[in-house]
Amino acid sequence: MVDSHRRDLAALTEEIVACRLCPRLVEWREKVGLEKRAAYQDWDYWAKPVPSFGDPEAPLVLLGLAPAAHGGNRTGRVFTGDPSASFLTAAMHRAGLANQPNSDHRDDGLALTGAYVCAAVRCVPPGDRPTPEEQRTCLPYLVREFRALPNLKVILTLGHIAFRAALQTLSEMSSERVRGKFMHGEVYRFGPSLPMMVASYHPSPRNTNTGVLSMDALVKVLEQAKALSRSA
Ligand code: SF4
Repeated sequence: MVDSHRRDLAALTEEIVACRLCPRLVEWREKVGLEKRAAYQDWDYWAKPVPSFGDPEAPLVLLGLAPAAHGGNRTGRVFTGDPSASFLTAAMHRAGLANQPNSDHRDDGLALTGAYVCAAVRCVPPGDRPTPEEQRTCLPYLVREFRALPNLKVILTLGHIAFRAALQTLSEMSSERVRGKFMHGEVYRFGPSLPMMVASYHPSPRNTNTGVLSMDALVKVLEQAKALSRSA
C-alpha cells in the first residue's frame, strides 16, 4: 500500500514537472530562468513547475503559495534558496520538523521529519500573484496530491492564498463546500473524513521584516500543527 502511494506520488510529480497548462506562467518561469539574477548567473535555473518535498508518509502538510522567482524556480525545490525558505526552515528546525536550519539547494542535505511541503500553484507567477484562473488550473494537482498522501491529518496553510486554496481543495475532496475565515493560529475541523487545517501568515520578508510574523510565532504555530497531526 505504501509502495502504491509512493508510485502515485512519483507519477504525479512527473506529470506536474512537465505541465504547460498556464501560458503566462510558462512564459514567465522560463524568462526568469534565462535572464537570471546577477548573483545567480552561474546557476542553471530549474524554470519548470516545482514539485513538493518532504516525507510522503507525513501526517502534516505545509502549503505555500507558489515558488519564488529566484528561490524554487531557480533551485527546483519548494521553499529553497530565498528569504522565505530560510525563515521557514529555521522555524521548522526549531519545531523538530527539519534536520537542519537552512534550505539552500537540492543537495544541501535537508530532510523533513513528519512534514511534507507543497505549493498551491507550482509555477512562479509575475509579482507573486497568480490569477484566479491559474489557481483553478493548478488546483487538481493539489487534490490528487492530498489524496495520495496516506497519513495526511493536518494542513498548515502559509498565507491567505494558500488558506483559500486548501479550503477549495478540501471542498473538491468532499461533497460539501468547506468554509473558514483566515486567522493566524486558528484550527479548522471539518469532520472525520477530511484533514484539519491550521492557518499561519506566510513567512515572506513582507511579514517577517514588519513584525507581522516573528520567528517565535511561526515556531509556535508549527509546534501546534505538529502536535495536532500526531494526536489526530
Ligand atoms: S501553475 Fe500548475 S497548472 Fe499552471 S503550468 Fe504550472 S504546474 Fe501547470
